[in-house]
Amino acid sequence: MTKIRTAAVIGSGVMGSGIAAHLANVGIPVLLLDMVPTGLLPQEESAGLTLEHPKVRNRLAVNAMDKLKKTNPAPLYSEAFIDRIMPGNLEDDLAKLGNVDWIIEVIVENLQAKQQLISRIEKVWKPGTIVSSNTSGISIHAMIEQASDVFKKHFLGTHFFNPPRYMKLLEVIPSEHTDPAIVSLMTEFCEKKLGKGVVQAKDTPNFIANRIGTYGLLVTLREMLANGYSVEEVDAVTGPAMGRPKSATFRTLDLVGLDTFVHVANNVFGLVDDPGEKEVFDTPAILKTMVEKGWIGEKMGQGFYKKVKSDAGKEIQALDLNSMAYAASRKISSASLEAAKQAKGTSGKLKALLGAKDRYSELAWNILKPVLLYSAAKLDEIADSIVEMDNALKWGFNWDLGPFETWDAIGLKRSVERMEAEGSEVPEWVKAWIAAGNDSFYKNKDGQSFYYLKNEYRGIEARPEMISLAALKQQNKVIRSNSGANLIDIGDGVACLEFQSPNNAIGGDILTMIQQSVDEVRSNYRGLVVANEGKNFCVGANLMLLLMEAQDGEWDEVDGIIRLFQNSMMKLKSLDKPVVAAPHKMTLGGGVEACMPADQIIFSSETYYGLVEVGVGLIPAGGGCKELALRASSLVRDPEVDLQPWINASFETVAMAKVSTSGHDTKRLGYMRPQDTVVINPDHRIYEAKQAVLRMDAAGYTPPAVKKIRVVGETGKAVMQVGAYSMKQGGYISDHDVLIANKLAHVLAGGKVPAGTLVTEQYLLDLEREAFLSLCGELKTQQRMQYMLSKGKPLRN
Ligand code: NAD
Repeated sequence: MTKIRTAAVIGSGVMGSGIAAHLANVGIPVLLLDMVPTGLLPQEESAGLTLEHPKVRNRLAVNAMDKLKKTNPAPLYSEAFIDRIMPGNLEDDLAKLGNVDWIIEVIVENLQAKQQLISRIEKVWKPGTIVSSNTSGISIHAMIEQASDVFKKHFLGTHFFNPPRYMKLLEVIPSEHTDPAIVSLMTEFCEKKLGKGVVQAKDTPNFIANRIGTYGLLVTLREMLANGYSVEEVDAVTGPAMGRPKSATFRTLDLVGLDTFVHVANNVFGLVDDPGEKEVFDTPAILKTMVEKGWIGEKMGQGFYKKVKSDAGKEIQALDLNSMAYAASRKISSASLEAAKQAKGTSGKLKALLGAKDRYSELAWNILKPVLLYSAAKLDEIADSIVEMDNALKWGFNWDLGPFETWDAIGLKRSVERMEAEGSEVPEWVKAWIAAGNDSFYKNKDGQSFYYLKNEYRGIEARPEMISLAALKQQNKVIRSNSGANLIDIGDGVACLEFQSPNNAIGGDILTMIQQSVDEVRSNYRGLVVANEGKNFCVGANLMLLLMEAQDGEWDEVDGIIRLFQNSMMKLKSLDKPVVAAPHKMTLGGGVEACMPADQIIFSSETYYGLVEVGVGLIPAGGGCKELALRASSLVRDPEVDLQPWINASFETVAMAKVSTSGHDTKRLGYMRPQDTVVINPDHRIYEAKQAVLRMDAAGYTPPAVKKIRVVGETGKAVMQVGAYSMKQGGYISDHDVLIANKLAHVLAGGKVPAGTLVTEQYLLDLEREAFLSLCGELKTQQRMQYMLSKGKPLRN
């Protein structure tokens, strides 16, 4: 068995349906099975259905699939992928499990139910098929105690996090019987094919992330109760101030559900013997009370927070744990929180917060300290190395730094001294490590990274598919650099252009670097990758600069900015070496235009891609409109065939500022060209882009010939304008939207020329620039820009 081509998911609840969707996302046909209902619903009865009817028998899986299409954020990369999921039930379709390569159990978290299901699976199972459980913390070996030896070899835990498409972590948990070859196969499959960050965990209660993460949440709750902090205070400290998500402690608990959380904590409580550990996992009475009251979080509309709607609008209220009443959520501020906010990087934030010595820095220390000590105490028991522990917490709880990285960030030696001075018990191995002269668990030396493993530093194995620009920069591989961008040597004669401005917005510095990169690559490299490791690939052009020039009426300056943008893109396009762009996450406006000149685009699976300029009262003018017209013209080569449907589609996409919901979804919006592809694992995107460059180079790359563009002309423009007019009549868009849409139609149609006219790229660029400049002079456009800059969302005026 070397490949997983088909799969079956059993249990179509929150996780089962999400996992089935993600398998469908990556092209794996999947059978989704659940129980056969024991009774009819009123609507089934009135439709004359019986318990024997397939519609009733498959109801649970079918309903789960319907829900998948409506869930936000979308579990599917593309709605069409739902067809890759086949619904069924555990009675009529059980035998089909004999025909799949991987069966994953995702039913209720109950050992007996899982054991019973596994014995049913074994009866139809064929050796070679891998079987796994998605349990959150039940013992893997206990589930298969009754199974045959050969079945045991094929069984393991594969623990996805919720939601499976979006959460990076997947814990792979072998039992003592699992065949190591299957562990390797699943690790590779889940990483490469499913795009997950795989961590190997030991078969211990709640594995790694939920063991440490739950401990952390419980000590936070205890500290809060002991020292009278409010819900808002705790969240102000335990969110971005400590390099953790905005949902911090209590919004996270509300999202997870307090009932689920108590269940997860109880699992550890029941399975550990250490009295100190047991005490922490014994959930505080307040949690039990809240669960009894049904205040379990988002799914019941209230938990630690409650959203209240009134005539005055929406209000977020927080629970006061003393009075058990909700009151308007208070904004918390302090010198320590402000210092953390101002500090750069998570390490800087933690140091600033802990160093401030006020009530909030006390709280941060008092919840950080036990988590670090607990992680160190549990190291060998639950994980093979600190790397697994750190990755599990980063990928499963969205922390910026794992516990051992955090320890390094706040100063290992110094913090251990403080812990000991406060009477805390520090694990012997940590003390011995420090006594041996070490002050960190990780270190970099001569371009090589090391981590602590069994009392020595072990080199972190370089993985060719994981190109890290950050590491390459440390290794002095920067070829050129300015305030907004770097050109980095990524090996084998390939250079990578990396944006590094705030939000990776494109300004003069990035454009200059694009031009310099072209010169550099032309003379000295085999090709160019355009990619970066920012939170988002690029949120567009530098709007602030543009707005300032527009408000001052500096039209020559605005004209100069657009010309520089257009010329840079044209220069990139005419480079006689292959160029591959690898966008990820938000890639908007100018970010899209920076990808369009590339010979190939490798979209990360999570790419939200769109020309959204209308949202700020503009149209794309860095070549975006021109590229769309060019694409339509090259797709429809026969001059007798009407171009209009293609241009209309582009017009609609840009006029409505549509953004893709995934890398695959760029196809629906017409942005994906035949040569463009999607890479599922975002960590592999730069490597894949580099490989694409090397392939093109090896095949004897020649740049695309400069082509004339056939346009739809004035008649085509009128068709688009009618579309905009009817949207206005229908009350969907404003007068200003119509003005923008008309300018967009003018550019996409090729201006005042007859249909079928052949024009040059430069001609269309001039039209773009002219339209853009005129829109910059509109007050309503300036208001839209201003609003976007201050509120971060579009104004519809
Ligand atoms: P859920 O309650 O949403 O879904 C469970 C599904 O299993 C339901 O569709 C139910 O009909 C089916 N089911 C229940 N008993 C069954 C049985 N005896 N035989 C066959 N089918 C049965 O639960 P969930 O949240 O999707 O959790 C499923 C599993 O995944 C659990 O083991 C849970 O611990 C684990 N898990 C959950 C999360 C999470 O955040 N919800 C995260 C990671 C892992």
